[in-house]
Amino acid sequence: MTSQELFVKTLSDNHLNLTKSRRKIFQILSDVESITMQELIKKTKGSIDRASVYRNIVIFEKIRIIDKIKIGFKYKIELGEMYSYHHHHITCMVCHQSQPIDENTVLEKALIQQADKLGYRLSKHQIELSGICQNCQKLD
Ligand SMILES: [Zn+2]
Ligand SMILES: [Zn+2]
Repeated sequence: MTSQELFVKTLSDNHLNLTKSRRKIFQILSDVESITMQELIKKTKGSIDRASVYRNIVIFEKIRIIDKIKIGFKYKIELGEMYSYHHHHITCMVCHQSQPIDENTVLEKALIQQADKLGYRLSKHQIELSGICQNCQKLD
């Protein structure tokens, strides 16, 4: 199933119509790693009104089409895990820039084993790393 097909299926599974606005928002999100609400609105170039973008993002989050990644007081939006490869982020505590960390099978396996030891079958995990990035260290 392509991510486009998965998107259409997720909407219909939740009894939601595939509207022009929803298709457009999904397209924009497919083209970026992650995006702020402001950037997303900018990229719609006025083709969708602001309130509608916000409304749809709320819906998308509810049905797991997107994830919100907290960065300081703000958040960024990215497509949910089922649309992208599984990954984690590291965020600088000073400038709040965030970047993905490459898939780390050692880490992934260790988590599964840890859960296993406790008698769990692991279905998801969230790991966010924070620190001070190279640029901000130079400012010290
Ligand atoms: Zn920084
Ligand atoms: Zn992981």
